[in-house]
Amino acid sequence: METVSYYDYIFIGGGLSTLLTVDEMLKSKRFDQQRILILEAVSKNTNDRTWSFWESGKGKFDKIAAQYWDHAIFAAADFKTTVALHPYKYKTVESAAFYTSLKQKFEKSGIVTYKLERYENHNESANGVVVRTETSVYNCKKLFVSVFHNQETAHQTKYPMLWQHFIGWKIRTKEPLIDPNALTFMDFDLPQDGNTRFMYVLPFSNTKALFEFTYFSPEIVADHVYTDAIKAYLNQRRIFDYEVYETEQGAIPMSSYPFWNKNSKHVAYIGSAGGWTKASTGFTFSSSRKKAKSLVKNLHSSFDLRKLRYFNRFWFYDLLFVDVLYRNNELGSEVFASLFKKLPASLILKFLDEETRFTEELRIFWACPKRPFITALLRRLVGLSPRPL
Ligand SMILES: Cc1cc2nc3c(=O)[nH]c(=O)nc-3n(C[C@H](O)[C@H](O)[C@H](O)COP(=O)(O)OP(=O)(O)OC[C@H]3O[C@@H](n4cnc5c(N)ncnc54)[C@H](O)[C@@H]3O)c2cc1C
Repeated sequence: METVSYYDYIFIGGGLSTLLTVDEMLKSKRFDQQRILILEAVSKNTNDRTWSFWESGKGKFDKIAAQYWDHAIFAAADFKTTVALHPYKYKTVESAAFYTSLKQKFEKSGIVTYKLERYENHNESANGVVVRTETSVYNCKKLFVSVFHNQETAHQTKYPMLWQHFIGWKIRTKEPLIDPNALTFMDFDLPQDGNTRFMYVLPFSNTKALFEFTYFSPEIVADHVYTDAIKAYLNQRRIFDYEVYETEQGAIPMSSYPFWNKNSKHVAYIGSAGGWTKASTGFTFSSSRKKAKSLVKNLHSSFDLRKLRYFNRFWFYDLLFVDVLYRNNELGSEVFASLFKKLPASLILKFLDEETRFTEELRIFWACPKRPFITALLRRLVGLSPRPL
């Protein structure tokens, strides 16, 4: 007969959202008498992501931050600018350092168990949840799942789905060919071919940088499309002699789909699977920090997880933005260029962090091309879902 182990809280997936949430639980000290289990399918000891985000002043992850920048370049076909980010700094954390530092902290806590086990399914009852992995069965009071599946969004049209999809190459050159200050937030000065495409560049030194060819679009493309674009971009900058020492690849969901609707009393979806990704950008790091904090603030053994919902006015703005790019996928360059031409970067970043006042948001709306957004708004008001043109 199989033995069933009991934990108060079980987390499926040992990635960003789980680690941030468990870290908040430890910090709150309210869970010191509880047992927490993290089930992760793969050993996460490689640098599978380079996480970037912006914040003002000192931050919690400064100790493990690989680098930060005070300025950023934005470029489009007819426009290029270097903007001061003050009061923000753009920071980068390597995921390997993040996983290691948090896992060490959890080990010391004595209340968190981390197991390398693949989750298979769960059943919820009135009092809790039974969780099955390939090898074991567990009982818990609350289950948090951070495994993203696209099936549910694929079968609906009300909330269109874009992807922030990309391949990034970390390269090393022999000669000092890279400007270590030239963080490139978005460079749209490359063929758009009916999509929203840009190069994102994180320079680590004068010989090392990440070049990431990125789309905001409904369809993923073949790997060689990204890598050919990176090669062409490097050649244009007369960078011919380089070695690729690390690669990263991703497809991050960009949608205002209310992922939290499938939460139940004892089971909640977190991270990208729970709608924690900012739909208009794909940025998830900062928004997960905020969502993890607010989740833990409310969490207790009888908390009804159906209460976790993230509708606010920024959710609606993101809905319109995704509608616009879903209908006219080529408009991304124009929208972002309008913002960077007319507004300080600090206001744009504050808006993307969902920390602006409504009067500041009016400045953002005013700077955007009016026609596509008004069309998207009217279509939503009369209940029409967007269709690609
Ligand atoms: C390469 C890359 C770079 C990114 N860069 C940035 C960035 O710069 N800034 C930013 O804000 N966002 C970035 N993102 C987006 C986002 O921050 C990450 O995708 C983030 O990891 C999402 O966190 P999560 O908890 O939702 O999912 P994950 O971190 O992916 O965690 C889910 C975990 O579940 C595990 N898992 C899957 N199936 C099972 C199973 N059956 N059983 C047990 N475990 C399972 C996976 O192995 C994984 O560890 C990036 C994403 C990628 C892919």
